[in-house]
Parts: sequence; structure tokens; C-alpha cells
Amino acid sequence: MKTFLKLCYQKLIPERRRIRNRLMFNKLTSVLYRGKNLKCNCCGRSFRRFKAKGNGIVSRLNAECPYCGSLERTRVLLFYLQNKTPLLTKPVSLLHFAPEWSLAAIFKKLPLLQYVSADINPNLARYQMDIMDIPMRPNTVDYIICSHVLGHIPDERKAISEMHRVLKPKGIALIMTIIDPNNPKTFETADADTPQKRLQYYSEPDLLRLHGGDVQERLIAGGFEKVEIIDYRQTLGDEICRKYALGDGSRELIFRCEKI
Ligand SMILES: [Zn+2]
Repeated sequence: MKTFLKLCYQKLIPERRRIRNRLMFNKLTSVLYRGKNLKCNCCGRSFRRFKAKGNGIVSRLNAECPYCGSLERTRVLLFYLQNKTPLLTKPVSLLHFAPEWSLAAIFKKLPLLQYVSADINPNLARYQMDIMDIPMRPNTVDYIICSHVLGHIPDERKAISEMHRVLKPKGIALIMTIIDPNNPKTFETADADTPQKRLQYYSEPDLLRLHGGDVQERLIAGGFEKVEIIDYRQTLGDEICRKYALGDGSRELIFRCEKI
């Protein structure tokens, strides 16, 4: 019965409206998590705990902010953006792929930021855009944020070279992805041809590969001249990591890719 009602809801209500409803529902129900133990730097609110995330293979406690939906990686990235980039204070341009709602809400309010949000699904961003064929001229963007996207893209090398192409010289792409710390090489197999198998092989049903310890090499091979691996959680320290629930590092590394 529950599944039937869900299917009817999906059929009758457009996706953009469903997303808005979900965001509103989350905000209303976030009072159930009221407390002082944890804090979200994206919405500025405090909670007793965050929501857990899991899919039967991987489970993370205190992952998602009940109010704005930020995840561990979102909160780490915002700390980095605030402390280490001019994005929030200077007149720069930003191309944001698969925009996290919690970050997009912040970016949209910044008067100096030239902000372009993009996704292959037109309901998830301002502009519909294929990251493997970005409809922009070369050398036009100061910053790109591309978090947990590359694992889902059929031709990852093309996506990387497209990001490099549209960045201005000295432009920066901040890239994040899920990494299997036990595998030095990115794992891909043709056998992962169903959502169930992808869940089994890659830990998520819509991933096309599970990155390993060679992400830096792959970004350089795609065209970036300089790639720095940043574990910004280490810089922030244990107490901030605990208070803001910044994860265990497997999803929160930032690859700072510079175009020379
Ligand atoms: Zn929040």
C-alpha cells in the first residue's frame, strides 16, 4: 500500500515540486532533532543528532543535517571554501555541478558571486548541462565544484578535460568522490550492469566505478597540471570534526585541481 501511494505521488506530482516538498518537510520535522550536541555550519542550526545514512552496505551515523540536508562532505567543503578560497567574499565565477541544496542556498545569496548551478537532470539545478560536453567557451570560469559526480559519469576522462577546458588559467576545480581506502586503483567491472550489482561492487546502486588511491593520477591524466589532495578535517581538528560531524575521511577528501 505504501509503495502504491508512493508511486501515485511520483506520477502525479512533478519532480521539482516533490523536491520542494521534501525540503519543506525536512525543515518542519527538524524540530524532532532539537538539541545542542551537533552543529551544522551550512544552516547554522544545532541538533541532538543528525540523520543516519545507509543503503545496507555502508551505514553512517550523524551524516545528514535534519534541516538543510548537508552531509559530512558538504560541511567540510564549506569550511574549506570559507577559510581557503575567495568564493564567499569576492567577485568570482563558480560553476557548481550536481549542486548540494545546502550550499546552493548559500551561494545564491552572495551578491558578488557569479553563480551557475548545473546538472544533467533539469529539475536539480538552474541549468541542464552534461559535464562531458559543457556548453561554455574555454577559459571562462574561476571555480568549479564537482562533488561526488565523477563516479557516476560514463566517460570520466572527458568530464575532467571539459572542466579543465572551461576554467580560466589559474582557475580551480574542487573535486570530491567516494574513495575505497583499501584499493590503490579505481575499480570498474563490466559485470556491474544492474543497480543491485553496482551496490554490491561499488557500495552505491548508481555508481559506475569505485575510486581508489589513484584519483590524483586520473585528474592529472585528464588535463590538470597541479592536483593537491586536501584532508581539511585534519586542519580543523578533533573537536570541530566531532561538533560538526565531518565524517571519517573516505568521502571528504578535497582534490584541488589547478589549471596552469
Ligand atoms: Zn544544516
